[in-house]
Amino acid sequence: MRTYGKLTVLTGPMFAGKSSGLIKEYLYRHAFACESRGRCPIYYPAIAQRWTQGQVETHSGNGIASMPLSTLPDVPEDTDTLFFDEVQFMEPDAIGGDFVDFVAQCCLFGINVVCAGLNLDYRGRPFRVTADLMAMASDVRLLQATCSECRAPATHTARLDERTDRFAAGDAACYKPMCAEHWQSHILEAEHAADESLG
Ligand SMILES: [Zn+2]
Repeated sequence: MRTYGKLTVLTGPMFAGKSSGLIKEYLYRHAFACESRGRCPIYYPAIAQRWTQGQVETHSGNGIASMPLSTLPDVPEDTDTLFFDEVQFMEPDAIGGDFVDFVAQCCLFGINVVCAGLNLDYRGRPFRVTADLMAMASDVRLLQATCSECRAPATHTARLDERTDRFAAGDAACYKPMCAEHWQSHILEAEHAADESLG
């Protein structure tokens, strides 16, 4: 009987170390992987535009091939584990198909899958793809950042600009990790400021 692939999901707010956790997992698994099994890059959705030149670097200088996806790949035949970053972007219109279904197919073919992505947007609303993957996963790792205001564990991401697109990319100038209490105050302040500017 063929074994069923294991799905692992690394999730949490921005700046919680999801991508570095994914890279660590990649390095760890390849350190022990049988040579006959194919080695795949870390995939990420092309719309995320996060990494340049198809390469991601760890702090220790290990370069890892990464590949932007605008369509779903075929389910590979000779692969032990597939790795995906920024899975919250893997919506059908970005990827030309059902990513959650693709992951389920991989598991059915005995391929392990490791995914990293945001669980919640800046308004605290779940990202559908990540939520579905978490429901299917055998291992969910809910990572935390550090609150920018009080240094407590951060579970939320606050947006500092006035954009309302929940998929808008940004760095530390646009987003901050916050604990639930500070995030909630930030949302209320932003709403208040918006009301003031209208009235
Ligand atoms: Zn806080």
